Amino acid sequence: MRLLIVEDNIELSRLVAAGLTAAGYETDVVSSVGEARDAVRSVSYAAMILDLGLPDGDGLSVLLELRRRTDPLPVLVLTARNGLQDRVNGLRSGADDYLAKPFALEELVARLEAILRRPGQLLGSSLNLANLVYDTESRQIFIDGTPRIFSSRETSVLEILLRRQGRVVPKKNVEDHIFGLTGDVASNAVEVYVSRLRKQLGEYGAKILIHTIRGVGYLMAEEK
Ligand code: CA
Repeated sequence: MRLLIVEDNIELSRLVAAGLTAAGYETDVVSSVGEARDAVRSVSYAAMILDLGLPDGDGLSVLLELRRRTDPLPVLVLTARNGLQDRVNGLRSGADDYLAKPFALEELVARLEAILRRPGQLLGSSLNLANLVYDTESRQIFIDGTPRIFSSRETSVLEILLRRQGRVVPKKNVEDHIFGLTGDVASNAVEVYVSRLRKQLGEYGAKILIHTIRGVGYLMAEEK
């Protein structure tokens, strides 16, 4: 499971990342509101750990944007010690839990595990296009109502293109979504997964096309 850590105190974010890696998670670390916004748009995270005092703004603005577009990404807010107002504001803005600094890594891991166990509260967890339905929780794909097996990477490509169907998704975003922000990726990896996905969609009779927009990215649309 991949987690996003948003924290501008480099020492703290390193410590948290190391602790979470030891607990078996993959992590991406960013240190500003702007970077956090880009990261949640291009990568599908299991949860986000969010500091509030960031150099370019209030971390809560990232959370508010997520909830405004009904993104159920679980968020654990880090607050200053005695930051009662921070806690209240965080929970009102849609945080799933909070943790006051300084905290023990064990407690952070325990809180994260608790919020990851909760079922997604938002309804409508499926994405549809033409005769394809994708269940975002179970990551199952149905074509004409029949479940079809795709590899994990191809499913990730499908998910990001489906979420932005009818729009061009830059190749870099697809890459980040599959491999995370720090992934070391062969330059043609995305092309390989897209072409496999395209082939499988064709074999299963999905009425969907993935257009390559040369030099830019990909666009998924219904086959007319
Ligand atoms: Ca801070």
